[in-house]
Amino acid sequence: MFTEKAITGGDLPAPLLASRAKPSRPWRRLLVLTVAAGYALLSVTTRRQLFPLNLKHGHHDEDLCFQPNELTPTKNGDLWTEIGSTISTDAFKTKAIEWLAGAVRVPTESHDKMDPVGVDTRWEVFVPFHVYLLSAFPLVHSTLALTKVNTYGMWYEWTGSDASLKPLLLAAHQDVVPVDPTTVDQWEHPPYSGFFDGERIWGRGTSDDKGGLIGILSTIETLLAKGFKPARTVVLAFGFDEETSGVHGAGHLGKALAEHYGERSFAMVVDEGAGFMENFGTVFATPGIAEKGGLDVRVDVTSAHSSIPPKDTSIGILAALLVEYESNPYEVHIDLHSPVFDTLLCFAGHAKDLPSSLRKAIRQAPHSKKAMRSLEKVILADNVYRSLIGTTQAITLTQGGVKSNALPEQAWAVINHRIETESSVAATVEHDTQLLKSLANKFNLTYTSFGAQISEKDAPSSGTLTLSDAWGTALEPAPITPTGRDAAPYALLAGTIKATFNSHRSLQGDNIAMSPGIMTGNTATTSPRLAMIAVQTSAAVPDPLSVPENAPEHCPGTESQLAGKASACAGCANQDVCASGATRGPDPALPLITNRMANVKRKILILSGKGGVGKSTFTAQLGWAFAADEDTQASSLHDLHL
Ligand SMILES: [Zn+2]
Repeated sequence: MFTEKAITGGDLPAPLLASRAKPSRPWRRLLVLTVAAGYALLSVTTRRQLFPLNLKHGHHDEDLCFQPNELTPTKNGDLWTEIGSTISTDAFKTKAIEWLAGAVRVPTESHDKMDPVGVDTRWEVFVPFHVYLLSAFPLVHSTLALTKVNTYGMWYEWTGSDASLKPLLLAAHQDVVPVDPTTVDQWEHPPYSGFFDGERIWGRGTSDDKGGLIGILSTIETLLAKGFKPARTVVLAFGFDEETSGVHGAGHLGKALAEHYGERSFAMVVDEGAGFMENFGTVFATPGIAEKGGLDVRVDVTSAHSSIPPKDTSIGILAALLVEYESNPYEVHIDLHSPVFDTLLCFAGHAKDLPSSLRKAIRQAPHSKKAMRSLEKVILADNVYRSLIGTTQAITLTQGGVKSNALPEQAWAVINHRIETESSVAATVEHDTQLLKSLANKFNLTYTSFGAQISEKDAPSSGTLTLSDAWGTALEPAPITPTGRDAAPYALLAGTIKATFNSHRSLQGDNIAMSPGIMTGNTATTSPRLAMIAVQTSAAVPDPLSVPENAPEHCPGTESQLAGKASACAGCANQDVCASGATRGPDPALPLITNRMANVKRKILILSGKGGVGKSTFTAQLGWAFAADEDTQASSLHDLHL
């Protein structure tokens, strides 16, 4: 038995999470990654099926946390040995350092809210980066086919000899988080110096994610130099705005890959994630297998206009609603099937020096509610674990009022949610809708949430409360990558990491444990999420210009939570694809339209949120007026219905 007293917060291990900034010995990480990726390439050539591995189980507690065995190549054993000795040389180490340091020296910052490629000149920082890659990896560029997607997205194909094998997709991102110019003097070595101090390479992007990108290219360059030809096709996808939105880079790459290779067409996708580190006496490698979802809820309050100040103004009501939010955080529990519990199980199973009380608590949690509650008490007291596990909420924006002597007609706020891996966007919407119901009632507001009428239809109203998706960017939690005994891709990755870790250090036996991890951020459209489109989406991407003839008039827009689900959508030819959420997100035709419009000097938009108000008539009249003036060149007038 354990006691609560025995498990204290002080016993808590650092979470095994896919940290986005762990700059520990990047060159070593680069080498290991290089070898790991190369190893995977060597290994897969020996397998005709999708990795049917013969796994012997290691020592430790296998029931708690399965450990695939070390995996060494058979068919390419000689090449493996040869490459092993090559990369152990000082010459290779020097080259590997220069490969990464050179990439760090090219600043490739991506910024929030950038305009499309071709409009925003800040994207041009990727030109010198491409030039650098071309000169640093000549064999890669003379052997692999490179396609640029949306100008700076890089899609390489290393075509394998066996077309019956599904390709392997290795992803990374070229961009880095901007460096605030006012903080440059606080850097021990300048952020874009790529300075090597004998142990570490310094600079923005060394570990996130140029280490990954350069690791992949270094591996392939090294394999090419040895004359290696893959049986399985290897595809590389390098986005260029992962740190901001992923819309311009991975967003386009994902679509291009899906179009070319088809749906569910990859054997395995490997993207950036955590490295490895020692926890309680055991080194753990922690690939991220899950990512939370996200939803920004906009809360809009309007109050009836009056010259006499009412008791409650829209700002006062909004304040009450926000207090209600903060007084009622989402309940957090550890789900037995969550990735975080998998992480804890791996600690219990394999961390040599884990305090025995904590090990016992984790072991007993699946069988005893009382044990689970006690474990939760300890784990959830840690804020990092807490936010990894549960749905979080944070009020991030508020606005209301325009003048000190005018009553505010409207006030609004945005609540940012990161949705737990076992929950959904719909459950989050439902939770928030219910949360504000009694206050909506108290303040006599007509309450609408995500298009659905919540308050009684004919109830007296002194204002409105509307909840909506603030930016139309709701994101479901990512599908969780399987890691059990039958999960061949995980076993391949794990076995490869183990073999690489051991052989590079000339170690015998089991020296590194695998544990599923979870990404700390929810990055909305990171390369892995978009790469998944190519792997997992089954819905066809609809042609945005084809509006079916029988489309009902009042169907909610594609950005709406109710898209395809409202009764007005019944019978619409696109109902299913709208309901699946696949049509949410920026219109893929936007860059094209922007490009085409670039030469048009002056643009006039006639807009209305409503049909039948005379937009077309007005546009036509305007066209007449322009045409009547001989000095005006009105090339064309378009009437668009969105
Ligand atoms: Zn990254």
